[in-house]
Amino acid sequence: MTNPAISSITIVGGGTAGWMTAALLSKLLMGRYAITLIESEEIGTIGVGEATIPAIKIFNDMMEIDEAEFLKATQGTFKLGIEFVDWREKGHSYIHGFGKIGVDRLWLHTHQFWLKMFPKGGFRDFDSYSMCTAAARKGRFAPPDARRGPPMSDLDYAYHFDASLYARYLRSLSEKRGVKRIEGRITDVVLKAESGFIDKVVLQSGQAIGGDLFIDCSGMRGLLIGDALGVGYQDWSQWLLCDRAYAVPSANPTQITPYVTCTTRDAGWQWRIPLQHRTGNGYVHSSAYTSDQQAVDTLMSTLGGPALGDPRLIKFRPGKRHQTWEKNCVAIGLSAGFLEPLESTSIHLIQTGLLRLLSLFPGQGFHAADIREYNTYSDDEYRDIRDFIIAHYKITRRDDTPFWAYVKHMEVPETLQRKIDLFQSSARIFKRGAFELFREESWVQVLLGQGMWPDYDPNVDMMTEADIAGYLHDIEAVIGEHTDAMPRHEDYINRYCKAA
Ligand code: FAD
Repeated sequence: MTNPAISSITIVGGGTAGWMTAALLSKLLMGRYAITLIESEEIGTIGVGEATIPAIKIFNDMMEIDEAEFLKATQGTFKLGIEFVDWREKGHSYIHGFGKIGVDRLWLHTHQFWLKMFPKGGFRDFDSYSMCTAAARKGRFAPPDARRGPPMSDLDYAYHFDASLYARYLRSLSEKRGVKRIEGRITDVVLKAESGFIDKVVLQSGQAIGGDLFIDCSGMRGLLIGDALGVGYQDWSQWLLCDRAYAVPSANPTQITPYVTCTTRDAGWQWRIPLQHRTGNGYVHSSAYTSDQQAVDTLMSTLGGPALGDPRLIKFRPGKRHQTWEKNCVAIGLSAGFLEPLESTSIHLIQTGLLRLLSLFPGQGFHAADIREYNTYSDDEYRDIRDFIIAHYKITRRDDTPFWAYVKHMEVPETLQRKIDLFQSSARIFKRGAFELFREESWVQVLLGQGMWPDYDPNVDMMTEADIAGYLHDIEAVIGEHTDAMPRHEDYINRYCKAA
């Protein structure tokens, strides 16, 4: 499968995915291709997607985006992790913090030593061994300090921002670099008879727009990849029961936390994302286990401040396209797949999809080997994240509602079961591939946080208990002291990136 070198790229959709694509390609491909983006204001965007993970900083750095300017433009705040409330059991909470935990000893990670010593008494909760989590608990924030070494240099962070303002910001960068924007609703997609490649898209106005490479950023519908090219969808709803969310903004409570809060509800969970000007809220739930009215009532009765609008219903289907690159079309964003936003991974998947496309870019024509590699990697990436999200449901002590009873007792994918079994036997986590997104630190925090209590790695016994105690107490002290000295999150924002 080869054909002539490409000269034009057509992006369908102007949500977060469409404008991230336009911004990155116009920056990195340096004007070598004519880039057009088509969006329909009448259809609009999904309008949610406000929490990110630390890799977003890589994307922004590639774009040479100034951090303070970007945070002012998007009403952004800092994110050190996610607080999970009532997931293990009602009344319990833990934080999945970014960055490393403690300081490794030889090849052994801090949690192994903590597992041995914590039951003996005199040691803090596991939260106290992560810079991010300890700072988050105190409502404090400062960027990592590379000069001071671990654990102070091991803090990592991401952002919360207003997704529509982020898309607007990226649009202005893209248009400055020559991206042509066309407003209009696509009503037809024409394929080439001989190859089945996409030839052009046709707008309601009758205008036709061609292209060599098409990027489908049309959202869940998958206008090109699904409707036009007929690529099917793997449905993962046997493990991920939630299929809807109600979302509503509210006024900020007294404190703007440097973390997202995800609180379980009877048939799902509710997010709270703190921005500078408001808080984003949403109840992700299963329509099989609650009614729309119950879901709205639950959401509206648990906001931290007055609602700033009416709740909006968003329906979704967990899963992914069988292929995310088919012929001359690459699906980026919700057209490629959907995983519930429990670990804020969707915007990250936009970013990795784009970087993978650049690595395998079909500048000299389309090659089956490139497309296969892209799709294989995409399968692995979605599956790994899927497993991590399922683990939050499976490892719980809750079975007090039919929803929680089901997920606690359900069979999970074999790939996840292997991870759980290995962790139970020795508190070890092995990443399957170098590109697996969630590192050992993430799995350890979530599996312990959800309530697993594994055996520790027996190699820990090489150190005396007195040595281990000294090592753990040193970490507690350094982290405690350093996080106490950090500014309050709001003070840091006010000084550095307060929106006008
Ligand atoms: P959309 O925003 O739906 O954009 C689709 C675009 O295609 C629009 O511009 C539309 O006008 C255009 N379009 C569609 N059809 C046509 C047509 N016929 N003609 C012309 N144009 C057309 N991600 C995170 O990383 N963090 C989060 O916290 C997070 N929270 C989420 C919460 C919920 C409830 C949901 C559902 C998703 C969440 N996501 C989150 C995912 C995130 O919202 C998306 O990944 C992101 O917004 C990208 O969406 P998109 O651009 O692919 O699609």
